[in-house]
Amino acid sequence: AKAAGRGRHRFFEPSMHNNAANRQMLEHDLRGAVTRDELSVVFQPIVRAAGEEVAGFEALVRWQHPKRGLIPPAEFIPIAEESGMIGQLGEWVLIEALEAVRHWPGHLRLAVNVSPIQFNDPRLVDLVAAALTVSGVDPSRLELEITEGVFMTECDTTEATFAALKKLGVRLVLDDFGTGYSSLGYLKQAPFDKIKIDRSFVRGAGLDQRRNAAIIRAIVTLAESLGMDTVAEGVETHEELQQMRSLGVSEIQGYIFGQPVRPAEAQQLAQGRILE
Ligand code: C2E
Ligand code: CA
Ligand code: CA
Ligand code: CA
Repeated sequence: AKAAGRGRHRFFEPSMHNNAANRQMLEHDLRGAVTRDELSVVFQPIVRAAGEEVAGFEALVRWQHPKRGLIPPAEFIPIAEESGMIGQLGEWVLIEALEAVRHWPGHLRLAVNVSPIQFNDPRLVDLVAAALTVSGVDPSRLELEITEGVFMTECDTTEATFAALKKLGVRLVLDDFGTGYSSLGYLKQAPFDKIKIDRSFVRGAGLDQRRNAAIIRAIVTLAESLGMDTVAEGVETHEELQQMRSLGVSEIQGYIFGQPVRPAEAQQLAQGRILE
């Protein structure tokens, strides 16, 4: 149906997996990865632009393959999506991440990525509700990061899912903002609480930088007038950090404040302040 159209196109870019055999092998291995304990979740700090306090963490999945080593999510998430494993994988990440959050100070948020395919599964809301109940984490601390891919694979339940998640009290974040097609329309279609400005707008020098700055300024203005927060991802240098601050971005994520780290290390960061 619709899901097989535009939204799935990107899954078959040759750059994502060199050949079919390789892909098939990864798919096969991924099936048992959870039970073999090869998957883990790491956490990257998200820091308030003013004051540099940790606001929360984004959970990012890792796969330690027994023979091939660390396989990046950009390589295996698309495989999980195509092969129907993403639901199970996503649920595992959510539960695992919420378990870690229980040990953090109560004001810190957790951001979890949700694949468009998960989002279009009507069971998602119950699953999120159950995971929150089991963990005891307040729903307002959970942010679900969704890319605009969700609108390309849109199905009958997408709108209802947005509404139900809002009702549950979780926060919704539009991820990778600015990289897709008609992003402004999407802001109207769903009750997002935050916009995550894609890192392609953060980097750049000279003319590029001036253009990026103009775009970010416009996104921040738009977000503010819609009552949404903003976060810039991929901030690596001090110069970029200063730039994001001067443009009024509310939160910062990127290597300048830390790479994704294991739960124990995240807990330490959660309890202190991060210094540059
Ligand atoms: P994303 O959601 O846009 O996540 C941000 C990515 O940027 C992460 O890569 C993070 O490690 C990286 N990053 C953070 N700061 C910087 C920086 O300053 N510079 C640079 N160059 N990169 C930075 P990662 O962990 O490899 O994840 C890649 C993508 O895989 C994610 O992009 C997300 O789309 C997907 N992904 C990761 N974990 C999950 C998951 O649990 N579920 C789903 N559905 N997708 C996931
Ligand atoms: Ca994300
Ligand atoms: Ca992103
Ligand atoms: Ca991305």
